Amino acid sequence: MIEMLNVYKKYPNGITAINGLSVRIEPGEFVYVVGPSGAGKSTFIKMIYREEKATKGTIKVGDFDLMTIKEKNIPYLRRYVGVVFQDFKLLPKLTVYENIAYAMEVVEKNPKAIQKRVLEVLELVGLKHKVRMFPNELSGGEQQRIAIARAIANTPHILIADEPTGNLDPDTSWEIMNILEEISNQGTTVIMATHNSQIVNVVKHRVLAVENGRIVRDQLEGDYGYEA
Ligand code: ADP
Ligand code: ADP
Repeated sequence: MIEMLNVYKKYPNGITAINGLSVRIEPGEFVYVVGPSGAGKSTFIKMIYREEKATKGTIKVGDFDLMTIKEKNIPYLRRYVGVVFQDFKLLPKLTVYENIAYAMEVVEKNPKAIQKRVLEVLELVGLKHKVRMFPNELSGGEQQRIAIARAIANTPHILIADEPTGNLDPDTSWEIMNILEEISNQGTTVIMATHNSQIVNVVKHRVLAVENGRIVRDQLEGDYGYEA
């Protein structure tokens, strides 16, 4: 479902962030991406939803060939792959409802279907009662839950989370992790870049360790493997 073969990414400034990386991720897997700062984790993840384009190699995501995909088809890729960020990236002038509905309006025109799905994903993250709030009226953990609801609104096959607990305290981080587990249990592939050694070491999943733009460890039920 995700296949990278001998992938390179060189940024315009000359830095080679990904340096001959190959990996295969099957449908429904939960994968942690770990490694030191600057190792290439974010670049690796950004290539999956085509925020960054590889310089060389093969990348396939579902039926999409990311080396040849046309600009006009990238919106279809973005329905296939949902993304959650460390800093949430909610739209501050829109309510919780509008933030999620907005992500769907591009795709689904039927307002009744949108309304149904917005309430459904809010239920899943436990924040139905915050539907009329604005992002700045919510805690960090609540904002991240809304961001997750938005990311899954279009029922993506893959959910990518780039340091989703990076700005959150330990208890809130666990709440976010539990939601990601639930989404994974529903069959969605989850790929999570993280520095949270506690979570990685307790909730066991496949671990990909990235260093110098390559995967240096690929371990089922792996450990975090670095000093916390
Ligand atoms: P990580 O997520 O593991 O911290 P990144 O993928 O962000 O690693 O970065 C890998 C390398 O690429 C680093 O040396 C970083 O400075 C560089 N890099 C990341 N993004 C860019 C960019 N947009 N332009 C130039 N260099 C970048
Ligand atoms: P609260 O928010 O009431 O403190 P949490 O659900 O955050 O409760 O969890 C309390 C503790 O339980 C956490 O510090 C963590 O160590 C552990 N924990 C929570 N969720 C999990 C989980 N899915 N797997 C393993 N341990 C967990």
